[in-house]
Order: sequence, then structure tokens, then C-alpha cells
Amino acid sequence: MNNKLQLLKEIIKSSDNIVFFTGAGVSTESNIPDFRSATGLYSNKYNNYRPEEIISHTFFMKKTKMFYDYYFAKMVYKDALPNKAHHAITKLEKLGKLKAVITQNIDNLHQTAGTKNVYELHGSVKRNYCMKCHKFYSLEELIKIKNHPICSCGGIIKPDVVLYEEPLDEEVIDNALEKIINAEVLIVAGTSLTVQPAASFVSYFRGKYLIIINKEVTPLDNYATLVFHESVGEVLDEALKDMWGQYDNNMHH
Ligand code: ZN
Repeated sequence: MNNKLQLLKEIIKSSDNIVFFTGAGVSTESNIPDFRSATGLYSNKYNNYRPEEIISHTFFMKKTKMFYDYYFAKMVYKDALPNKAHHAITKLEKLGKLKAVITQNIDNLHQTAGTKNVYELHGSVKRNYCMKCHKFYSLEELIKIKNHPICSCGGIIKPDVVLYEEPLDEEVIDNALEKIINAEVLIVAGTSLTVQPAASFVSYFRGKYLIIINKEVTPLDNYATLVFHESVGEVLDEALKDMWGQYDNNMHH
């Protein structure tokens, strides 16, 4: 094991106040494409519209049908499964080391892996609500009626996903910032920190160790204690390897 991994391992072992800030790179190994990467969604037009335009509040209200065609073709991965990265984070929570995960992802995979304390800055494809009466619809229910996503009350059913032109949820922001401000270790994983305002949250960190695990360079690399330009799943898996014994003991006794 190299020095960087050894150090990461020691930092994780020593702390019970670790917060993760995650982005698309955590889910690419679950075969969910990264929106903003060169090969990702944003590089392709759809029916002559830019994806940023389609995923906006105005577009959703005006062309709901085309929005949903795009949304279900490109943004919803109903059968995606959590990968090594999600599972490692869940185990840290069960070991009492993880305080929270703050994620920019909308895929629900942290929760599917079993992590409990997740703050979703951009919402979740798993929740949908009628805009008029606020009735809840599951993803499965919405898929059945996606060609006519209208509630029994006549209102339009909208995913609980933050679209362009829409603000982030204030309660989620408050909780996420509180966790970041009070964290001892902040691990930024799978995000290039280019999506605002979410990315600016990381600048509130004033704890001991900032760790960055992301395939590409990020604007905060120079401020981090440790930087890994590698797969999140591989790094976490390797760093946590011999902590599993402790975990299994906790689980079985
Ligand atoms: Zn309704």
C-alpha cells in the first residue's frame, strides 16, 4: 500500500466525524453517465434543444411531454445498483465514523446501499409530487403514466429534482452546511466541483483533513491534505480493506 493510501487509512481510522460530498463520479461505476463530462449528456443536443434547456423549469411547464421523454431516456436509471464506493460509505456509517453524505446525485444509490444520513442537494428521481395537491407518486407509478403525467386532481406530476431556474431546498442546504462546517474530515468524491451553488458548499469546511478523490483535477486540489485522481470505489475499497473485520464483529456480536 502506498503512502497516500496509508495516510487516508489512518485519517479514517482516527475520526468519527467524517462527511462525504459526492457527485456523478461516484455513480459512473454503476453505469450512470456523468452529466457534465465530455462524453456525458451535456455534449449532445436533443430535438435541437440543449440538455440544460430541457432540464429547466420553464421547459418542464411548457413541454412536459418532451421533458419526460428526455428525462426517462437520459436521467433515470431505475435498475442501477450501488457500487464499491456506495457500499464503502455505508460501512463507514455503520462503524459510526460517518456523520453524513451530501450528494449532488439524484439516483438514490447511497440510500439503496443502506446509508441513512443523506442530504440530496438536487433531489431524487424516487420522489414525485403533484404540483397542485402535492400527492406523492413513486418512480414506478410515474413510469406507468409518463405519457400522461397528470394527477387525479388535474395537476402536473413533477419529479422532486431541482431543475435549472429552481432554487435548492433551504432545509437541505442548512443541514448540509451544518454538517460540513462541523466535520473533522471532509471527503470530496466523484465531483469536479464545477456545479454551483452546490460546489461552493465545500468552501465552508474548516476541519482538519480535506480529501479529494476524483478522476479529474478540481479547483480545490491545492487545498487538500490528500488528492487521488482515481476511481472512488477503488480508493475507498483499498483504504478500508482491513476495517471490515471490525465491521463484521460489530454486526455479528
Ligand atoms: Zn393532485
